Amino acid sequence: MIIVIKKDHDKKQYDHLTEWIKSLGLKTDISQGENTIVMGLVGDTSRVDIDLVRSLDIVEDVKRIQEPFKLANRKFHPEDTAVHVGGVTIGAGNFTYIAGPCSVENEKQIIGVAQAVKEAGATVLRGGAFKPRTSPYAFQGLRDEGIRLLLKAKEETGLPIVTEIMSEIHIDLFRDVDIVQIGARDMQNFELLKAVGRMGKPVVLKRGIAATVQEWLMSAEYLMSEGCHDVVLCERGIRTYETTTRNTLDISAVPVLKELTHLPVIVDPSHASGVARLVKPLSKAAAAAGADGVMIEVHNDPPRALCDGAQSLRPEQFKDVVQEVNAVAAAVGKRV
Ligand code: PEP
Ligand code: MN
Repeated sequence: MIIVIKKDHDKKQYDHLTEWIKSLGLKTDISQGENTIVMGLVGDTSRVDIDLVRSLDIVEDVKRIQEPFKLANRKFHPEDTAVHVGGVTIGAGNFTYIAGPCSVENEKQIIGVAQAVKEAGATVLRGGAFKPRTSPYAFQGLRDEGIRLLLKAKEETGLPIVTEIMSEIHIDLFRDVDIVQIGARDMQNFELLKAVGRMGKPVVLKRGIAATVQEWLMSAEYLMSEGCHDVVLCERGIRTYETTTRNTLDISAVPVLKELTHLPVIVDPSHASGVARLVKPLSKAAAAAGADGVMIEVHNDPPRALCDGAQSLRPEQFKDVVQEVNAVAAAVGKRV
């Protein structure tokens, strides 16, 4: 349920209303707009008498929210959420490039790629330390050593870092990580979502391989209900019957999410396509559709990458992508 409060309301009546809501065992989420305050009620609202609330002087409108996701709902929070991290703002009209290798492989590689992507226009460095691999015999990532090297690359370049967490037992290792990634395979690992939601860090939440938009938003709700309000949704392709690409980029998810939620939305064209040459057109499509940024895999030597070489761009290819995508993003009114 949301209660829209009039701008020039009586403070005493407002306090009275919030106290009464609390006494019903509900939490409030306040969104301060230019002309009104939107008060979202979280919890079992079945005991709230909607007509009684509507009759209050300070109340402009009351609506029941049909969708099961509340905190992520744009009705709850009409203004876009901006995620601020390490001097970078994701959302709020910016178009952000997150780039780096699929996996951190060694110090020279991660620092070299970090410098190159920064030079090309990336403002956040990605790199996997813990890798979710289909085969247990495939490279599993450098794990804690990978995080140490990412932090070194951050120290060298000043870029904030994003890296995937796969288990709650690794939380301590992520102490100095700027943004925690929940991968597609863990989008519905609800215990992990709850634990990460309590970390007090921004989260990139990737869409599950076969998840609907609503299921994805419910996973964002898990993070948010634990106090994490800085959630960035990342569309990374879904599994369909199509085999010419690794996954199928659901580009319509971008405008659909923009309607349903206030959270920033980015697109990962690398995992969506699995093909390096498709990264540029898909990034342009993402920008044109209204995404707040892209997350792109970049490797110094793709043929020798330990993971996802076929979809990785060389630094100079990434630079070219940034230039062309910037033109599209600017054309739809984004700051680049
Ligand atoms: C990744 O970003 O490296 C990754 C494993 O992505 P996804 O979870 O989308 O497959
Ligand atoms: Mn990858």
